[in-house]
Amino acid sequence: MTGENSGVSRKTLLKAAMVALPAPLVLAAAPAFSGETTPSGQSLDPTPFCDDGDDPTPPQMEGPYFKPNSPQRTSMLDGPGTRLTLSGSVYGLGCQGIAGALLDFWQADNAGNYDNYTYRFRGHQFSDATGRFTLTTIVPGLYPGRTRHIHVKVQAPGRPILTTQLYFPNEPRNDTDSLFDPRLLMSVTTGGGGRVAAFDFVLNVPQSPGPGPTTPTTSPTGSPGGTWRAGTAYNVGDRVTYGGNAYACQIAHTAITGWEPPTTPALWRRV
Ligand code: FE
Repeated sequence: MTGENSGVSRKTLLKAAMVALPAPLVLAAAPAFSGETTPSGQSLDPTPFCDDGDDPTPPQMEGPYFKPNSPQRTSMLDGPGTRLTLSGSVYGLGCQGIAGALLDFWQADNAGNYDNYTYRFRGHQFSDATGRFTLTTIVPGLYPGRTRHIHVKVQAPGRPILTTQLYFPNEPRNDTDSLFDPRLLMSVTTGGGGRVAAFDFVLNVPQSPGPGPTTPTTSPTGSPGGTWRAGTAYNVGDRVTYGGNAYACQIAHTAITGWEPPTTPALWRRV
């Protein structure tokens, strides 16, 4: 259980120094979200934490409990616990929403245990046309060595995977977990019969200036040939060919242009 917590790098020491900041400074360093209000009634910045090209969401270690092939779903109320609704957007460096970004969540149950045999509290989804996503789950339980957190992998079509973790404000263990990073704090309020959380991801995806959401482009591959087709619903284990290579589907999804097998390693494994 403590495998995620081993090793103290210079970076984590810096993080620990940030954690030691007075609460108002830590709050100021946390991401701000559209329309959110802190429990104290303090209004947060109405725009997402995406004001320049220097602040992509920081990565964190995957930890020992990731499991591929999670089901596609936006609700994973798989056991008792305090209901948690997490929503937000996936942005590129130009602060434009990224459509069709893969978000794969996994977390501990109410008792602090991961299900490594089935897929309880594991699920993936894709951001909508404006980059928005919503996950319905429960507040994860605590387990030894860590503060409260949710794991996630986020991937824009054709881009590298961001693996990171999201944290809850006002958790006592935030001060003692060396992995904790205040830049990954969700905004959490009470509501909806439980908690309502918000977090916006900023991916290291170049975007040209301009209004409106965009989908990152992938490099043209000409006419690669093969059995893969956009618009086809693929299930885990399905095999396709593309560009002369064979791939196995790792996550059930409906293929779209931009999610070609060579550029979506989260979806397709070369075989
Ligand atoms: Fe964990």
